[in-house]
Amino acid sequence: MEGAIEKVLLTEEEIKKRVNELAKEIEKDFPHGDLILIGVLKGSVIFVSDLMRALNLKVTMDFMAVSSYGMSSETSGIVRILKDLDFDIEGRDVIIVEDIIDTGTTLKYLYEYLKARHPRTLKICCLLDKPDRRRVNIEGDYVGFKIPDAFVVGYGLDYAEMFRNLPYIGILKEDIYKK
Ligand code: 5GP
Repeated sequence: MEGAIEKVLLTEEEIKKRVNELAKEIEKDFPHGDLILIGVLKGSVIFVSDLMRALNLKVTMDFMAVSSYGMSSETSGIVRILKDLDFDIEGRDVIIVEDIIDTGTTLKYLYEYLKARHPRTLKICCLLDKPDRRRVNIEGDYVGFKIPDAFVVGYGLDYAEMFRNLPYIGILKEDIYKK
């Protein structure tokens, strides 16, 4: 698996440190807690579990599954809801937790979709942000790292369902996904 990685972009230690910092920012903004974290399956699973454990607040979690990529490395631009929320979010403080904002298509769609359910507040927390790739106007409220335009895997992010279990984030060798 390691042979497929061009370069380690963020080490396990760097990620851990930053996740703790993000948790502190969130605690500052929501001192009374009672937050709902909405993890976007499957890429955010590792991030949302670490973030949740770092939060010293009353917090619950839910998941949504969307599809926009299929098995390729480029977004199709079409977002489909594959799994909706289990709970009502009306009047609640909600944070969407996403692995990465790339073109922004997925998050923009999710944001509008959830906003229509009238949460009290709706924020976005994403571990990674590729600002150079943005096609729609959306930004994270809590952003772990801004990264260059490269296809990354690890810490929950996959290529064709693989590499999610890498403890770090690495740039995938081009010949793997351009095959
Ligand atoms: P967007 O809709 O912002 O273009 O894409 C967001 C989704 O595309 C992310 O949630 C993620 O699943 C996928 N994605 C975008 N860039 C990357 C990347 O560099 N690596 C991986 N593994 N997935 C990515």
